[in-house]
Amino acid sequence: MLSNLAARDVETLIHPYTNLALVRETGPLVLERGHGVWVYDTDGRPYLEGMAGLWCTALGYSNEELVEAARDQMARLPFSHLFSGRSHDPAIELAETLKEIAPIPVSKVFFTSSGSEANDTQVKLTWYLNNALGRPRKKKIIAQRKGYHGVTVASASLTGLPANHADWDLPLPGFLHAACPHHYRGAEAGESEEAFSARLAAELDAFIQREDPDTVAAFIAEPVMGAGGAIVPPKGYFAAIQPVLARYDIRFIADEVICGFGRLGTWFGAEAMGVRPHSLSFAKAVTSAYMPLGGVTVEEPLYQAMLDESRKIGTFGHGTTYSGHPVACAVAIKALEIYRRDRIVEGAAEKAPHFQRRLSALAEHPLVGEARGVGLIGGLEIVADKASKRQYDPKAGVAARCVAFAQGEGLIVRFLAGDRIALCPPLVIAPDEIDTLFDRLGRALDRTAEWIR
Ligand code: PLP
Repeated sequence: MLSNLAARDVETLIHPYTNLALVRETGPLVLERGHGVWVYDTDGRPYLEGMAGLWCTALGYSNEELVEAARDQMARLPFSHLFSGRSHDPAIELAETLKEIAPIPVSKVFFTSSGSEANDTQVKLTWYLNNALGRPRKKKIIAQRKGYHGVTVASASLTGLPANHADWDLPLPGFLHAACPHHYRGAEAGESEEAFSARLAAELDAFIQREDPDTVAAFIAEPVMGAGGAIVPPKGYFAAIQPVLARYDIRFIADEVICGFGRLGTWFGAEAMGVRPHSLSFAKAVTSAYMPLGGVTVEEPLYQAMLDESRKIGTFGHGTTYSGHPVACAVAIKALEIYRRDRIVEGAAEKAPHFQRRLSALAEHPLVGEARGVGLIGGLEIVADKASKRQYDPKAGVAARCVAFAQGEGLIVRFLAGDRIALCPPLVIAPDEIDTLFDRLGRALDRTAEWIR
């Protein structure tokens, strides 16, 4: 029997990324409030938020300073845009701070309201760049299988997951996908991580040559794949592929939407993974998700090309009403101030070994084929047989069942395609809460194993 709110929900809402048929039977989990790393449902039941919402509420749920920053800006100037040369101080100050903390040279910052819009902007800017440079054929974009870059038409084309393409008439032409850098699934028997990386780089080179390097404009990758299953690339992966991209003058975009702002124990995933991109996409933790905000960094050569185009065409014809929304920018400024003042990034690095130790220990569980992670992100891969890495029939929904058992234990984690489970708690999680998270997850795995028998 669904509660009143749950019954109203299923009659009124389309839920993103939800089994629409199933939710009609089970009803939604209706949350009412949050505090620290805990969220509470309408019956007051607490759940440890082991996913930081959607990989985003890095500072937890009750940060009064962020609330104050939003309130102040709401009262002062709740909206103003950046079109037609209009500006406001929160956007300027935030862009300055982002330029300071970015791990690469940044000329300018362009704001969006989401990660999807940021990656759509990357695609359009890449095309714009090559038109400005007189290279109209150089337009294809290579992403990775299992990569996740969003759901708008271009960013869903970048995404390399079947559910984002099947029956959506995607990807669009000109969007290509290279191999997923997942050693556990992709390596040949006995192949070391380094050898696997070298092989992927050689395969990428051959792929670009087959496509014709004069037609390949950009490559996009997450430093650590999130929605694909918290997949940490093999040792030497980025070091191996970067020379290939440079050889063919291919713009390299790092999608930092999850990894940015401390997730891997460094400000950006690029630093932890040895990535040297031309540009970053960011969103989520930039405001600790208290307000929707994303954006891209613009490198100097791209900015010069944009200026050239602007001289030719006039208006830079891109931007949305909420690009650089002042309340979102004010919250981001405060969030970045807190990250710096409270050593949130350093704190994540300090807590990471404990988190990773507890995660690795789950690899001993009979259902877990691989437990992998870095910093405060982790993933589990459920298998039916550890030796052969055979998976359960996807229809059995084993990882989904485990996530449901975890919810019963008062823990929110996320199941992903391929019987994978992701963990990504708020960066402010305390060491004893890390233990609570893994104790509860261990019990959920045990209950799943009993359920299968
Ligand atoms: N890029 C990555 C790496 C993401 O994880 C996501 C969302 O999870 C996106 C892009 C899309 O961001 P949004 O959902 O804000 O559009």
